[in-house]
Amino acid sequence: MKYIDEFRDPGAVQRLLTSIHNRSSRPIRLMEFCGGHTHAILKFGLRQLLPPSIRLLSGPGCPVCVTASTDLDRAIAMAHLPDLILTTFGDMMRVPGSQGSLQDAKAQGADVRMVYSTLDALSIARANPDRQVIFLAIGFETTAPTVAAAVLQAQAEGLDNFSIFSLHKLTPPAMKAILEAGEVQLSGIIGPGHVTTVIGSNAWHFLPRDYGIPCAIAGFEPLDILQAVYALVDMVERGAPAVSNAYRRSVRPEGNLVAQQMMQQVFQVSAAEWRGLGSVTDSGLSLRSEYAAFDATRRFPVAVHSSLEPRGCLCGEVLRGVVEPPECPLFDGACTPEHPVGPCMVSSEGACAAYAQYGEA
Ligand code: SF4
Repeated sequence: MKYIDEFRDPGAVQRLLTSIHNRSSRPIRLMEFCGGHTHAILKFGLRQLLPPSIRLLSGPGCPVCVTASTDLDRAIAMAHLPDLILTTFGDMMRVPGSQGSLQDAKAQGADVRMVYSTLDALSIARANPDRQVIFLAIGFETTAPTVAAAVLQAQAEGLDNFSIFSLHKLTPPAMKAILEAGEVQLSGIIGPGHVTTVIGSNAWHFLPRDYGIPCAIAGFEPLDILQAVYALVDMVERGAPAVSNAYRRSVRPEGNLVAQQMMQQVFQVSAAEWRGLGSVTDSGLSLRSEYAAFDATRRFPVAVHSSLEPRGCLCGEVLRGVVEPPECPLFDGACTPEHPVGPCMVSSEGACAAYAQYGEA
C-alpha cells in the first residue's frame, strides 16, 4: 500500500476488526507509548470498534508532558537572564511550571521565542551575535538527531552564542520503569512508530525477553494500529511474546544508523527526570564534554527552588497509565484545552488534549 486512503480503507478495517474480535478470548490491557497513537486511536474512534475486553491505555509518549516541572523552572530561570533569548517549540510555551509558564515569563519581559525547528534557533543566533541564544531541546529519539545536527552545524560555523538545554529522553528506559513499578498490569505494548524508525525494532526485544510482554510497532493510520493490535492479541493468545513490526514501510530492525551515529557523536546517555516517573537511570541525553561549549546548563547555571506540580493535576498518573484522563477530577472542568492546568492538556500530543478534542469522557 502506498497511499493514506489505503490505510483507511473501510473494508480492510472491517476485516481486521473481525479478525481481532474472533481471535480475542480474554481481557487484555495494551499501552500505547506514543501520544501520536493516542490521538489517532481517539480520532478514528478505534476504542469503540475493538472488543470491550481490549483496554487501551495511554503511556508516557508525549515529550512536552514528560518534561519535569523542575526542568521547566530552570528553563524559565534561564529565560530571565539578561541579554538572553530562549527558544523552544510552541507547546512548551504554555506548560505551567511552579511559578508560571514560559509564556508568562515572556509577558514579564523575558525574550522567549517560539521556533518550528532547531534550525530556526540557529538562525536567531546568527542574527543576534551580541546575545546568547538557548534552544530548549525536548523530544525523544526522533528529535535528538536533528538537535545533534544543529550542534554540529553551530560548531562548524564557530557560533559562540548558541547553546542547548538538553531535556531529551529515551523511550525504552521509560517503558522499563513503568513495568518495574508494577502499578499497571500490561498484556502488550504498541511500540512508537517514529521513535522506532530511529532506534529500530530490535531495541524492543527486552520486552518479550525480560518481561514476557509482546510489542507491536505501529504507524499512525487506522490499519497500522489495528494490525498492531491484532499482532498483540495473537501473541497473547498463543502465549508467544515477541516483537512484531506493523510499520514496515518506515521501521527496520536496526533503525536509522545515520541518525543513531549523529546522536551518539554529540550526546551521552545520562539519568533524566520525568514527570510522573521521577529520575530514571540512563533515560536522558546530555552533551558530551567535547560539546560543553554548547551546553546551556554549564554556561548558564541557575538554581531553582523545589518545584510544585499543578494542584489536583493527575498528569503523572495519566503518563503512567494508572488513570485515564476523564478520571482526573479537573478534566473538562477546571482543566480544558482553552485553560489547561497540566501539560497533558497543553500539548498537542497530550492524552488529556486528545480525550478533550475527540469528546471521550
Ligand atoms: S485533566 Fe488537566 S489537570 Fe487533569 S491530568 Fe489532565 S492535564 Fe492534568
